[in-house]
Amino acid sequence: MNDQFWKRKSLAEMSSDEWESLCDGCALCCMHKVEDDETGEVFYTDVACRLLDLKSCRCSDYANRTREVTECLSLSLDEPEAFQWLPATCAYRRLSEGRGLAAWHPLISGDPESVHVAGISMRDSAVSENETLEWSVLRKLGETSD
Ligand code: SF4
Ligand code: SF4
Repeated sequence: MNDQFWKRKSLAEMSSDEWESLCDGCALCCMHKVEDDETGEVFYTDVACRLLDLKSCRCSDYANRTREVTECLSLSLDEPEAFQWLPATCAYRRLSEGRGLAAWHPLISGDPESVHVAGISMRDSAVSENETLEWSVLRKLGETSD
């Protein structure tokens, strides 16, 4: 993409299309999380929300997601506390913390597959909550791999 709008605009200045295009499709925010009772640390599991399409790593009912799944994160600058639940790799969190986009981000690479090829996304790693009662810890919230 020639117009690197994320470099010249703040999150608040972006159009809705620009805002939506920041999502790299990793699906990490669609994983269930667990909190360590003693330390308060939060970890992602590999169990996905029932609405996640595991093949595409996209929500199967995006328009109605917050009505269908009450704990679904609806990101808004009016509710900045939601950003703390995002993985450190997430473009919204990165930009809100003054970091740029990663090299594997589709807006940088020009290839929507790059987030999957780089091993950032949950494609081929997640199981649906519809299909399992078992889960394993994936990574600690806030850990970054780039
Ligand atoms: S963690 Fe961020 S980039 Fe990944 S799916 Fe969620 S909103 Fe999109
Ligand atoms: S409702 Fe959709 S966007 Fe929200 S957590 Fe579930 S799959 Fe993700």
